[in-house]
Amino acid sequence: MEERLKDYEWLLQRLYKKIPPRSGTAELVLPDPEMIRVGDRIIVRNFKKIAEKLKRDPYIVARYLLKETGAGGRYDEETGHLILDSELSRQTIMEFLRRFEKTYVRCPTCMSVDTRLERREKERMWALVCEACGAEQPVKPI
Ligand SMILES: [Zn+2]
Repeated sequence: MEERLKDYEWLLQRLYKKIPPRSGTAELVLPDPEMIRVGDRIIVRNFKKIAEKLKRDPYIVARYLLKETGAGGRYDEETGHLILDSELSRQTIMEFLRRFEKTYVRCPTCMSVDTRLERREKERMWALVCEACGAEQPVKPI
């Protein structure tokens, strides 16, 4: 009995950890990009945190940002930094993060941010799937 109870508690804990808290339609408060210059590069030190707020893989957010702005750079998994080889202002970064949120995070049907991206190999498209209302929105792959 004791063992079983422990198992159950463990399962519950696991469940809670796996399911992110629901944010509903609330505005996503993104942390201000912490930017430092190192030689010719600009490093966004809290990029991983920003991506977590957007509930997306930092690689995908980085790819979007670099593609849309034409900037060179990469995401460094070890440090969680975005390393930019080009000049990008804080304002530009914030603007594109908001665009990303609008297209790849927020459900256009119910405005919830409790969504996920699914790859649809067959259609060569991605789908923004809403966990709140069930709507699916085809989006351009990044
Ligand atoms: Zn929805």
